[in-house]
Amino acid sequence: MEENQQQEGLPIPSIFKNTDTGAPLDKCIDCEYPVLEGDRYYMIEKVFKKYPELDKTEVLFEYAICSNCYEKMKDAMSQESMQNLSMYMMENTDFQKLQDRIEEKPDDPEHWLSHCLIKGTAQDEMKEYQMGACFKGDKLVTNFMPPFMVGELAMEEMNALLSKETKDEMDGFMDDHFGIPPELRKDLILI
Ligand SMILES: [Zn+2]
Repeated sequence: MEENQQQEGLPIPSIFKNTDTGAPLDKCIDCEYPVLEGDRYYMIEKVFKKYPELDKTEVLFEYAICSNCYEKMKDAMSQESMQNLSMYMMENTDFQKLQDRIEEKPDDPEHWLSHCLIKGTAQDEMKEYQMGACFKGDKLVTNFMPPFMVGELAMEEMNALLSKETKDEMDGFMDDHFGIPPELRKDLILI
């Protein structure tokens, strides 16, 4: 049983590893749970900013968050914001396109992330984007949700759906963990 489970699921794609060291992220940012060895599910989120004139892409931040802390964070957000967000995702996500990309290259999650899940914009044409995926141990988990990438346009639209209460909550999270003041958080969405 144990072995079968190990064989399922793809290894952690390099895009979701630590940008500086290339090693997997191994701790929950909130409670320091050892996600790599533990059996909690966890999410990894990364935010990228591109400087085309310098031919450079910078990772603004990256973190792993365990399922316990993730649930806590969701609970802290307002009902209204959560409903607005899931409605927006349901109405706007192009699941068929994503499915096509997965079928094109079933073993290459980075290919699945080549276009905005919502707007269909190619990553090459974006200035800012964020991606996320669900993992367990050293494996990518796709049964709850596939890895996603959203660009700045979708990020802005989603941010506009959040209540002040929820925005304050997110600002607090970013400030606590990254020392990022609210005015710099801008349109980041914690999905
Ligand atoms: Zn945690």
